[in-house]
Parts: sequence; C-alpha cells; structure tokens
Amino acid sequence: MSAVRTRFAPAPSGSLHVGNVRTGLFSWAFARHHGGQFILRVEDTDASRVTEEAVHGVIESLRWLGIDWDEGPDVGGPHGPYRQSQRTEIYHGVSERLVAEGKAYRCYCTPQELEERRRAAMARGEPSGYDGRCRRLTAGERAAFEAEGRPFALRFAMPAREFVVDDLVKGEVRYAPGTLTDFVVLRSDGSPTFLLAVAVDDLLMGVTHVIRGDDLLDSAARNAAVIEALGGTPPRYAHVPQVLGSDGRPLSKRHGSTSVESFRERGIVPEALMNYLALLGWSKDAETTFLSRDELIESFDIARVSSNPAAFDVKKLEWMNNHYIQRLDDDDLAARCMHFFSEAGLLPEPKVLRAAMPLVKERMTTLRESVELLRFLFTDDIEPNERARALIQQAGPAYLRSVADALEAVEPWTVERIQEALDRASAASGRSRKEGWQPVRAATTGSNVSPPLPESLALLGRERTVERLRAAAAPS
Ligand code: GLU
Repeated sequence: MSAVRTRFAPAPSGSLHVGNVRTGLFSWAFARHHGGQFILRVEDTDASRVTEEAVHGVIESLRWLGIDWDEGPDVGGPHGPYRQSQRTEIYHGVSERLVAEGKAYRCYCTPQELEERRRAAMARGEPSGYDGRCRRLTAGERAAFEAEGRPFALRFAMPAREFVVDDLVKGEVRYAPGTLTDFVVLRSDGSPTFLLAVAVDDLLMGVTHVIRGDDLLDSAARNAAVIEALGGTPPRYAHVPQVLGSDGRPLSKRHGSTSVESFRERGIVPEALMNYLALLGWSKDAETTFLSRDELIESFDIARVSSNPAAFDVKKLEWMNNHYIQRLDDDDLAARCMHFFSEAGLLPEPKVLRAAMPLVKERMTTLRESVELLRFLFTDDIEPNERARALIQQAGPAYLRSVADALEAVEPWTVERIQEALDRASAASGRSRKEGWQPVRAATTGSNVSPPLPESLALLGRERTVERLRAAAAPS
C-alpha cells in the first residue's frame, strides 16, 4: 500500500474522551504501520460548542499519549488550514460548483414545512427522509421564492442508484436506490454541514483511509457520494465499534471521568493508556497483552479490529498501569510522581523520592497513590489514622519508648541493623514481629499500612524516627 494518509477529526466540545481517542489511535497506528501520514483536523464548525481551551486540550492529550501527526493546526502542512472554522470559503466554493453542475440545489423548505411533511410521511408508513420537493421545483416556482427573498439551504442531489460501502471492519453495507435522500450541505446561514465538510476535507487532504466510530457508518455513503460528485475517489472506510461502559451503553460522560485528561490526572501513565486503548477492540494475536508504542505500530493490522463492541474496564487499565509503573526506572518514575506530590503541597527531595520508588512501585496502580504511600517521608505533619491510633494505644508508651531507645543506638543506620533492632525490641517485650512492628509503623508513618518498615525508617532517618516514637509515647 503506498502513500497511506489517515486523519483524526475530533470536534472538541469538551475534553478528549477515551472512546474517541481510540479511533484516533487506530488511525495513527495504521498510518505509521504503512509508513504513511497522519493528519489532525479539528472539526470546530460548531462555534457555540468549541472553545479554544478544548482545542488546546485535545492537542495536549494526544501528545501526552504519544500520538504525533504530520499535518495539523499547530504544525501546518500543505493542505491546510486544518481547522474547519477556517475553511468556510473552501466549502462555499465547493458548494457553488456542485450547484453549477446540477449536483446540489437550493431548498426553500422551512423547518416547519419539513417537520410537517416528515410526520405525514411517517403516518403513511413512508420513509421520513427529504421528499425531494425543491429538487423538482419549476423555474417559475423557484423564481417566486427568490422574489420573495426566501432563505434557502443547499441540498445535495443524491444520485438515484444503489450505494455500497465496502467497510474494512463492517464488510459490505448496501443502500438500495432511494434509501439515502437529498441532504443539506450548506445551511441557510451559510454554514457547512458535517456531511459536506468531512467529505471535502477528506478529498482535498488526500485522505486514503477513514477510521472512525461506527456511529458514523451511515454518513459514509453520503460522504462518498459528495466526493464522487466532485470527481474524487472516496477513501476506504473502517468503522470501528464503539467503546461501551460497564452498563453496555456507549461510553460517555455518564460513566464518570472518561477523558484522557482525567486518566492523566489519576496517574495513569501514557504507555499504559495507549496499550490498553489499542486492545479495546483490536488484538495483535490471541496472546499478546503488552505492546509498546513501537510494537503497536509494527503489528497494527486493521483486519484484526473486532466487529463487536469492546467494554471499557478501569480495573484492567489500572492493572496494566501497575505493570508499566513497575518497569519504569526509578529516576523516571520519581520524576513522574513529583507532580502529584507538589499538587498535594509536598516538596520531596528528589534523591529521597527516588530512593523510595523501589518500596512502592509494586503496589502502585496509579502514580497518584505514591503520595499516600510516602507522605510520611515528606512531612512531619502525620496525623495517625484511626487504626494507627488504636495500635499506638494498645502498645502503650513503655514499649514505644523501648523501641525508640533501641533505634537511637543503631549504628550504622541501615535497613539490616534497623530490622535487627526492631526484632530485638519486639522479642524483649514478648511480642511477635507483627505485634511488635505494627505500633512502630503506626507511630512513624501515621498508618497501619506502609511500605516495608525497616526500609521506610532507613529513608525517614534516625532522628525523625526516634522523635515520632517518643512523641507517640508522650501523654497527649
Ligand atoms: N468530528 C467527528 C467526531 O468527533 C468525526 C468525523 C469523522 O471522523 O469523519 O465524531
């Protein structure tokens, strides 16, 4: 296959949704796999819904995920502009041409008239699409509307033949003659419709493959008809089943935070999100679960996109995230966690944070969790939780003081020596390791759960460890 060109065309009315970005990921992987080009096109013709912030957010989220594009609003390219709001003249030019060639016509029907006729057709058990009235106007009728100054929309004259979309995922989809009716390409206010803009852009941008959600399957034949009317060859279409929520309905805001941004804020790493999204409705083979960005490019095959919808499973994403977190090197992981600490008002010393990574990386399902697990290292303001308070109370001040004394004498302050001292203090008071260590954990970390204790204390330092034990032993 030569010169593959694909595009992702989000309409940024809010944050970029994972179900939506997944089709962007497939388009990108397909282009990269074939050594082709990937275009980012912003469908922002609906000015009432699109904000600059949202456009910026889309670009940010894609970059963060690891998707890059060869042409787009920020990087330019030979087929720009790449924002539909800046292509109005192009759409007008094309519309005029379609009218001049008799492939589109002025439609003077008002919304009320359309609605009445639609209802009447349905009542008669007939199809509810446009009935073609203005296509059949006599010259006299047309002149009368013009003289009256009636507003008009431009409607595409759908050829009365069968349409076949040979979809790469859905297979052949056929539309019998007459089932696809004439549709508006330019509204009476001069704005282009989605059906026109997408077709024109795909044609002028040389898009060879359109990979998008199957909610748009029924647009494909009409997009293709416009492209053919303009003398072009329609791209190949691949309509990917939508991502479903746990309730089996298409994933949406209803299902809580599903934006790329929200996963980033939760501490999902981009490698994991990319890998997870790639496997939502696509697979390399029956076995492979983990794929790097390069492996995805290498193995992406559109023929392996499933024609069944895939369900989004946050637990599986978190499990996958843990896999990637465990494999990051400690410097990288610490640097990625830093953001979450500063957001929590903590300023870890990078060296200490880095040294703490091996203690927590196995149990972190998100980067954000590192803050709770390691908070005790970076603030002295550790209010023991309820279970920690109970442990401290049960142990009593005498035991905590004895541990403080034992640890004060530890030299050098190493994990091994700390562990020995803790075990000795436990044994001396007739406690098992668990009974002996838990109150120490509670007093030094403020919690009944923490990373391994001797390692934690080694990082906390002798002075702060002893201070915390004595403070817990002091009468309050
Ligand atoms: N802008 C459309 C959307 O966000 C996609 C259009 C297309 O891919 O053709 O759903």
